[in-house]
Amino acid sequence: MKSSAISQPVRIGMLSLGCPKTLVDSEIILGKLDPSRHVITASVADCDIALLNTCAFIQDAQQESVNRILELVELKKEKRIKAVIVMGCLVQRFPGDLKKQLREVDAFIGSGEYAKIPEIVERVTHGKKVFSVGRPGYLTTSGEGRVALTPSHYRYLKISEGCDHVCTFCTIPSFRGKHRSRTIEDIVREAENLVSQGAKEIILTGQDTTYFGKDQTDEYLLPKLLQELDQVSGIHWIRLLYAYPSCIPKELMQVMRDSKHICRYLDMPLQHASDPMLLAMRRGITKRRTRDLIHEFRQTVPDLAIRTTFIVGFPGETEQDFSELLDFMNEMRFERLGIFKYSREEGTPAAGMSHQVPEKIKQERFARAMTLQQKISEENNRRMMGKTIDVLVEGRDEQNEKLWIGRSWMDAPEVDGNVLIHSEKALQPGRFYSVPITSVAEYDLVGRI
Ligand code: SF4
Repeated sequence: MKSSAISQPVRIGMLSLGCPKTLVDSEIILGKLDPSRHVITASVADCDIALLNTCAFIQDAQQESVNRILELVELKKEKRIKAVIVMGCLVQRFPGDLKKQLREVDAFIGSGEYAKIPEIVERVTHGKKVFSVGRPGYLTTSGEGRVALTPSHYRYLKISEGCDHVCTFCTIPSFRGKHRSRTIEDIVREAENLVSQGAKEIILTGQDTTYFGKDQTDEYLLPKLLQELDQVSGIHWIRLLYAYPSCIPKELMQVMRDSKHICRYLDMPLQHASDPMLLAMRRGITKRRTRDLIHEFRQTVPDLAIRTTFIVGFPGETEQDFSELLDFMNEMRFERLGIFKYSREEGTPAAGMSHQVPEKIKQERFARAMTLQQKISEENNRRMMGKTIDVLVEGRDEQNEKLWIGRSWMDAPEVDGNVLIHSEKALQPGRFYSVPITSVAEYDLVGRI
């Protein structure tokens, strides 16, 4: 970049791909920039330096990351932007390949190098190329500023980094590292900061939130953390993502039941329900124990909404295994559910397994499972008819000015359903309203104020 341009504030654009954990990293990265020297723009297409935080957990996500890099490199060739900085999981997973194949990129930064952002942006601003990849995974502290990339009324809070599990289909531990927990005091301090910035909903995230504290004290400390967060004034909802079924501390159910602000919502990926598949996936739990756990949760926490995800087409999955999964979905009737087709990831034990399932079968099983869940979801929603529920309003519908979009306690942002609210009067985003439910759809509820 020419020296004359440097006296001007440098315009920085950020595009954050992937999961809430990466989004938190992106907020911290922007928080490290000096506001007197850098201006954050609304889009990477309108900036001097474009920052791209990538995802690498499955091939589709890797392809999307590479496509976005190529788009930014194109903008640079057209001189619409001056530099491209790529960071995160894709860089941590494929550092050498990216450096060799994408020479137009000005800097590659691994998922553990974010403390060096100010210096790296400075060097790129002065036309230098940078390659900085070290230990995986970035564990933040409450002392680090964050620039919100979500509406201020809901914020993600990363309580740990990395993962110690050995799921045979997963590469995440290889580029996010071993599990490391933050301290309860530091997390509570950050929650207070986020509330002071307008947050009403705090969403706890990590690769495995239920493993929290185990690396420090050999104790599961999530229940204690939740009790502390429940005391933070100004929080309306505390939402728990990424629980691991074989690491559920017993007290968690009671803490959720007895708390004032913890959402009766549990995101707990199960991945499969047939024992041969759970064994081959090395999930460390059986169908029977999973069923017992869910029954106990539902009995202990009234109105609990459980979100889960399943993988179809895992190597060796027979029609028998798959129909066991469908039966389990029918029996458990999850409120929220996502289905993934197995992605053969280089470097994972599952990639080397025999009996890889043909793509056509994967697709057919994906469609059958989604069709079943659509029916279950609508039947679950029917139970809400005539009830009045608390809804956090996100905004107005773009097509219909008398329709507003909100979320109930059963809906995490981006991944779950919505509550559509018909209202003559304007509603305020970030505020809670009591909404009588008047009709339902497959995944959404409809209400009228
Ligand atoms: S819990 Fe399993 S699937 Fe999740 S990040 Fe860890 S190894 Fe991967």
